[in-house]
Amino acid sequence: MDRRNFLKTVALAPALASRMNGLPPLTIKDVKVIPTSAGGRYRWLFLKIITSEPGLYGIGSANDMFQTFAVAAALEKHLKPWLIGKDPDRIEDLWQSAHFKTYWRNGPVNNKVLGAMDEALWDIKGKRAGMPIYEMLGGKAHDAVACYDHVGGRTKEEAAEAVAKSMESGFRHIRVQYGSGYGGGGFLKANEGVRAEGGYTGSAFDEDLYVETIPPVFDYVRSKVGMAPKLLHDVHSHLSGSNAILFSKKMEPFHMYFVEDLLSPERLAWYREVRRACATPQAVGEVFSNPAEYYPLVSERLIDFVRCRVTAIGGITPTKKLATMCEVFGVKTAFQEGGENDPVNQLAAYHVDLSSSAFGVQEENHFPPVVHEMFPGMAEIRKGFMYGSGKPGLGLDINEELAAKYPITEARLGGAYPTDRSQDGTVVTP
Ligand code: MG
Repeated sequence: MDRRNFLKTVALAPALASRMNGLPPLTIKDVKVIPTSAGGRYRWLFLKIITSEPGLYGIGSANDMFQTFAVAAALEKHLKPWLIGKDPDRIEDLWQSAHFKTYWRNGPVNNKVLGAMDEALWDIKGKRAGMPIYEMLGGKAHDAVACYDHVGGRTKEEAAEAVAKSMESGFRHIRVQYGSGYGGGGFLKANEGVRAEGGYTGSAFDEDLYVETIPPVFDYVRSKVGMAPKLLHDVHSHLSGSNAILFSKKMEPFHMYFVEDLLSPERLAWYREVRRACATPQAVGEVFSNPAEYYPLVSERLIDFVRCRVTAIGGITPTKKLATMCEVFGVKTAFQEGGENDPVNQLAAYHVDLSSSAFGVQEENHFPPVVHEMFPGMAEIRKGFMYGSGKPGLGLDINEELAAKYPITEARLGGAYPTDRSQDGTVVTP
């Protein structure tokens, strides 16, 4: 290149660069932690990342029902000072560097922090691009996001009626629980059974009782509603080794869509034996917070559905990678987005769901009216499908004044998840 042409190239470079990037440079100007109980049972934390462009910000969820204040402190004291001044466009780089900046990585607290940052950054990028996040992840891979309903009954008749009612309201995927609470159908009442002197006297979970009680309920439900609904059941990690295999075998005739959390994360090696023993589809993952827990299950095809919660594994970035891996190995996704989860994280899952060929189903979650007022643009579930607002980014906003009206207070027992016990007082895995 001669000197004249070289100078011409240099002169053109800034114009070319700005044309290629299309958008002006941006920095993170401020970071806000927004806690709210949303008027009752929730213990939600949101992160608002505010950029140098007036009016441009993103929202992410760091919701942790059980260690709320630990996550809040991690956001405020450790993420915020590190994040201010950085370039919000570099999501992958920020995710990687935030992941390693704690030196000790993974786990629920670290991942909730990462997840909130990551969701807010994708929200910003979507708003910058003028498109919903799923468009930036490859566009719609299917028409809509199917959700599964939650129903239950204290008797098999009640359970069958509840399934029929759910079908009438438009759901095709229906989770059926029995009795009260997780493990329902497997509990002895206080003082029932054989108890040691001076020992535990409370309601006690019995694996054998559970394995005997639940399959006949599904036999009855199928006899009443037929094969049309996709039936699901959540064991909530209450079984161990051989009982898990026996339960799965007993459920095989009812052609389940999936059995959820047959085994706890401490007992994952048993999935290999379950797989050998029967064809009941297995879904697991809502308490996972480390790729070492879920990647081997997917790559060895030991499960059929992965059920991680988006924020619990670190946000949209790792969830999209997980969905891609699931697609490669023929495993499906069924992200856990129910219970105490929030509208921001619900939508984060929605965008990955809609853009992934590995999508199976998403857990439904419904909210009281005040939450709808607090999050304009939040997802809506109609006749078994979830719909986003179609607006750029995640597609919703947060009314901070309304959120501030409902502060998070100290929780009973520090926010502890309840402990189930067996007859001899042993703690049962939740
Ligand atoms: Mg569950």
